[in-house]
Amino acid sequence: MPNHFCVGRQTAEEFMRLFVNRLAFGIQRDKPLHDGSVPYIKQTRPLDSDVVRMHLNGDLTINLYAINPQTQSSKWVAIDADYDGSLEALFQLQWELKQDGVDAALEQSRRGGHLWIFGEKPLLASQCRIYIYNLALRLGVPVKGGGLKEGIEIFPRQDEIKDGAYGNAIRAPLGVHRKSNRRYWFYEADLNPEAQLAYLRCLKKLTATDLETLTQGMTLPQAYRPPDLVPFAPRAPVDGRREFRILDYVQTTGKQDVRNWKAQCPSCAQGGRDRSRNNLGIKISDPRFYVCRAGCSKEEIRAALGQPIRKSATV
Ligand SMILES: [Zn+2]
Repeated sequence: MPNHFCVGRQTAEEFMRLFVNRLAFGIQRDKPLHDGSVPYIKQTRPLDSDVVRMHLNGDLTINLYAINPQTQSSKWVAIDADYDGSLEALFQLQWELKQDGVDAALEQSRRGGHLWIFGEKPLLASQCRIYIYNLALRLGVPVKGGGLKEGIEIFPRQDEIKDGAYGNAIRAPLGVHRKSNRRYWFYEADLNPEAQLAYLRCLKKLTATDLETLTQGMTLPQAYRPPDLVPFAPRAPVDGRREFRILDYVQTTGKQDVRNWKAQCPSCAQGGRDRSRNNLGIKISDPRFYVCRAGCSKEEIRAALGQPIRKSATV
């Protein structure tokens, strides 16, 4: 059983000053689902210091969002790493940040760690991301996305979010993880909420001016930029025959992720499957590429559309 604490309101308020960017939050389920995941349930009420006290005491566990949509800024940057060898990568990043004059606090996690940097005032999400992506690239630390399945993840995960959107949330530090039923602490302080917060309070905070200087002339690396959402322009027909385009035949039902549209798979649909209309992923930047996640082949999909692939044709 993890320790139970009884923190004062001041401790909760200090936690909020340090970590809370907006009052939206989720509460982690008490017990894992069958698949082992322990999701957070988004709450409709705003976060307050009573809930934060319960989080610190160990009565419930919350997550927090990285971006305040009014300023597109965050009080912190968190680098999440949970792959093999990720702890070394975090130590390497921490050391390199120190060379830049930036203090970063390392928090343990279930499979790796989270490295936290705090702003003196909230910092623009886009600028934080430019800094850390470039730093990671320079060090050869893998970053998830942009073709890589394993690597660090950087919160804020978005450059900005629209009004009414939330972006990604991260487990709030110092609480009890409901999957392992234990707490994960920052390495360099005693193991109680007050001492941990005192340690974080003393860290040097990154100023907007310093961040400006550190990112001078930098941009987000190409591979990690969101794809341009320009409508796909068909190419001129070759040999008088029009190239097959899946988007002429299926209705997209939204986005699967930043790179792919989703739609009902025609072959699944023919078999009465894919009622939720999201098996087919279609690459946004080039809809000639599509795949059914239930495993239908290209031939089956084309046949289901009455557009069988001609054997002689180069497709
Ligand atoms: Zn299918």
